[in-house]
Amino acid sequence: MKSKGRTPEWVPSKGEGTFATVVRSGVEGGHDGMTDGSSVHHDHRPHGARRRALNVDDYVAGVRSGDRVILGRTITLIESNAPAHVTIAKQVLTQLLSFAGGSLRVGITGVPGAGKSTFVEALGCHLTASNHRVAVLAVDPSSSVTQGSVLGDKTRMERLARDPRCFIRPSPSGGTLGGVTRKTRESMLVCEAAGYDVILVETIGVGQSEIAVRSMVDFFLLLLITGAGDELQGIKKGVMELADAVVINKADGENRVRAEALRADTARALHYFVPATEGWTTPVMTCSALEGDGIGAIWAAAEEFRSLASQRGVFEQRRHSQMLDWMRSMLDERLRARFAADPEIQQLLPGIERAVRAGSITVAGAVDTLIAAFERRHERTSS
Ligand code: GDP
Repeated sequence: MKSKGRTPEWVPSKGEGTFATVVRSGVEGGHDGMTDGSSVHHDHRPHGARRRALNVDDYVAGVRSGDRVILGRTITLIESNAPAHVTIAKQVLTQLLSFAGGSLRVGITGVPGAGKSTFVEALGCHLTASNHRVAVLAVDPSSSVTQGSVLGDKTRMERLARDPRCFIRPSPSGGTLGGVTRKTRESMLVCEAAGYDVILVETIGVGQSEIAVRSMVDFFLLLLITGAGDELQGIKKGVMELADAVVINKADGENRVRAEALRADTARALHYFVPATEGWTTPVMTCSALEGDGIGAIWAAAEEFRSLASQRGVFEQRRHSQMLDWMRSMLDERLRARFAADPEIQQLLPGIERAVRAGSITVAGAVDTLIAAFERRHERTSS
């Protein structure tokens, strides 16, 4: 991993202090994105005060100087779907890109109740205590329904949210998993450009969000708990195969013995798996996020992973292939969206679908017809 930019000094911004923590949900699709701070921060502005509009240079300079309010606004800009914001966001990202890449990106997954928030708080506090700067992001494709509650719940991560060396951002809400993933990836780059050297990305255990988070992090950590059932925890769903570390949480009090038994079972099961990262043996550890036990050892494993994977070139390789996969999926998504929005396709599609259902046209024939219509229209509009 190369850290291309100089890490800026930590400069507390004017809007920081120990006052009430404001946690807002992410930006809805189509929201102008500019009136909502959408981040966990300490806001001293008088109620209703308007924000000054920022230009591309203001965003870039603010992020680079470590101004948390501007960092929050930059992420809001990235999350906005308004065309004017999309254009500015692209320019800001382009300028910040050369300063990104300098963090260890850690993904954390586990079923609801496994203790992810508690774990992120414990790990985050452990890291900030040793001078790391930590950004916490989330991927929650359901947050359009739950309004970003994964990290938006004020009672979660209270200690970490007050830590000036930490920046917490709820999941962007609204839109597809692809949209949420894109926004989180870009937010991650912006946090890196702001000098955060550890990015923790939390997922909630629904559908494909584990895979989305795996695709954007260096080190992927699966939290398990005793008594929750293999099926539910993704052990049989293949999530375990994606993990660079498996952690049995809640190893405290009377549960300690059962947690140790699950640790041993899981370690045995992992023997039969192909390691998620070439040359790395996925460790299975126990911890108590509540009491802080085992957190230091887990971080030590993450650092060992970084050093080993970097030495072997696997680290860089993973990042390169993640970027390419990202590009390809964005391209797929854009082409698909263009296709779906094409008026001629919209007109043709119902009839063609009827014909496919009736068996009067082959699937390949239907696709040929649609692509030909799309290309004809595209040729006409570009000539
Ligand atoms: P999440 O849904 O995965 O984010 O889980 P939370 O962090 O919200 O934790 C769910 C519940 O488990 C809460 O009541 C936590 O206090 C509790 N919890 C989390 N970690 C531990 C732990 O290490 N030990 C014990 N005993 N309880 C824990």
